[in-house]
Amino acid sequence: MDELVGVWCNGQVEGVGQMRHFHPFGDAADPAHIGLDDICSAKSLSRYVEKSKTGEKAGFPRYKGQNRYDSITYPQFANGCRLDNKGLRLGSIGRIRIVQHRSLEGIPKSCTITRTATGKWFVSISCDIGEKDKKPNTNSAVGIDVGLNSFAVTSDGQKIENQRFFRKEEKSLAKAQRKWDAVKKRPKTDAVREKRRKVIAKVHERIRNKRHNFAHQESRKMVNRHGFIAVEKLDVQEMQKNRRLAKSIADVAWSLFRHCLEYKAEEAGIGFKAVKPDYTSQDCSACGHREKKTLSDRVHHCKACGYKTDRDHNAAINILTLGLQRQAD
Ligand SMILES: [Zn+2]
Repeated sequence: MDELVGVWCNGQVEGVGQMRHFHPFGDAADPAHIGLDDICSAKSLSRYVEKSKTGEKAGFPRYKGQNRYDSITYPQFANGCRLDNKGLRLGSIGRIRIVQHRSLEGIPKSCTITRTATGKWFVSISCDIGEKDKKPNTNSAVGIDVGLNSFAVTSDGQKIENQRFFRKEEKSLAKAQRKWDAVKKRPKTDAVREKRRKVIAKVHERIRNKRHNFAHQESRKMVNRHGFIAVEKLDVQEMQKNRRLAKSIADVAWSLFRHCLEYKAEEAGIGFKAVKPDYTSQDCSACGHREKKTLSDRVHHCKACGYKTDRDHNAAINILTLGLQRQAD
């Protein structure tokens, strides 16, 4: 161990060579385009050297396993990447045939190549499209609440139903997990172990894809339909507490949906506000009367003014009101 660090300190690139061995591009990787993970490893190595010098206790940095090495970034697109009708040309790697889903808009800035756990490759190129004029139209404003029964409910009474795949995939994941648990202690070279690892990765990938499609489609509809969108601020800590699988799949879908709403709203130049959800389900959206509800209270029925509506619908109206207030501030 100490020998390797000695080599590193002498300024040779043995350490990097070692890391490159685990890299998706193998020895083809150019030191000028070392992936983010490599840089992290180099950092942890130099941190170890520094700490050892001062006599501080420090753990020797671990090399990450092959399956965790999954991305390489070209921080400057102009320097090392070229995209034309023959494919994507990457400095030091060469030309790669690609399936291009849509044409580039604006000026390409950086390029990231990712390998998923199931061995598929993706290229994402981020482009600068400049600033767009914002003209929120609050006449077609909408508030959106995460429903308990439906995926989301809007202030104008639309419902986005929960996807059945949340439940279905929960079952496949649990099954794959059980099979994995039985073999995970076996050596990494074990064929059955590797097969089951891939099954889990595949289920995760399928969930991710379905969730993506769902979030993109639903947020696109919202952004096309409205000039201003208000949602709840996310409570990540609250979400992490939830151990139930189907619920957590739905939670991730919701945060992705919210994220899509936000950036699609920005792209389209419409208004977007995230508000604190503190009393949105307790307050009456008609008169402001506040009254505690339990999770089983499905209907909002105000004792003060008699207003009666679906619980989530009431919350969505409150979210819209708060969002419009914040917009006016
Ligand atoms: Zn009321």
